[in-house]
Order: sequence, then structure tokens, then C-alpha cells
Amino acid sequence: MSLTNEMISDVLNLSQDDIEHLSSCRINNTLVINVRLKKKTCSCPNCGSFSIRIKEYKLRKIHHSLLSLDPCILNYQARRYICSDGGITFYEDNPFSNQGVNISNLTILNVLKELKEPNATFLNISPIIRP
Ligand SMILES: [Zn+2]
Repeated sequence: MSLTNEMISDVLNLSQDDIEHLSSCRINNTLVINVRLKKKTCSCPNCGSFSIRIKEYKLRKIHHSLLSLDPCILNYQARRYICSDGGITFYEDNPFSNQGVNISNLTILNVLKELKEPNATFLNISPIIRP
């Protein structure tokens, strides 16, 4: 059984509305998650201008600690903006850098652990999802 995007976004503390692209795969024993966030309205941190455009995407590889059962690499395509007024570049807000562990993350961890059992189905792990 593979992880659903819902489970992954829960672990990452993202809502479905935040996500432009989310996919995952296993390479050997490592869970690789590819994520790109939706564009949000933001302004230049230097001059406050809203006259900004996307300059590029920079791949950031984040070794994620919440999925500590398996090695996990988060390939985060960080969106980089350029301000049309001042010419400075800046990154979108990065929700992955300072996230705390919360109950729902730990719950998901338990689900992931259950899913490692060969006969696990969503039916018999559902009491864990809804304590
Ligand atoms: Zn600016």
C-alpha cells in the first residue's frame, strides 16, 4: 500500500489548498516526496510592492525528521520571486523550516507504522486515525 497525498500533506502540516503538486515514491528504503506549493499573494519584503513575478524555482532537499521511521527526503521546489520595482529576489514563505510536532503528525506516524504491516488495510487502522 502506498501513502496517499492526504496522509503526506497531513504529516507535512499542509492543507490541500496549499499544494500545487505533491507526489511521492520510494527509492530503495527512502521515501522521496516532491512538493510545490501554490502561489500566494505576497509583497516584496524590501519595498512592499505587489509588482512581483516568479523568477525561478530552486530545488531544496530537506531531510524530514517527522517521518523518522524511514529516511525521508523532501524535494521542495521553492518559488523565488523578483520585485519589479527594486529588482531584489526573495523566496516564498517556507512552511517546512520551523514546524513543530503536533498530535496529528504523531497520529499519522502511527498510521505509517501500521501500514508497514503486510496485512494492514485502511479498515483495520481506522481506529488509529480517529482516536
Ligand atoms: Zn521591492
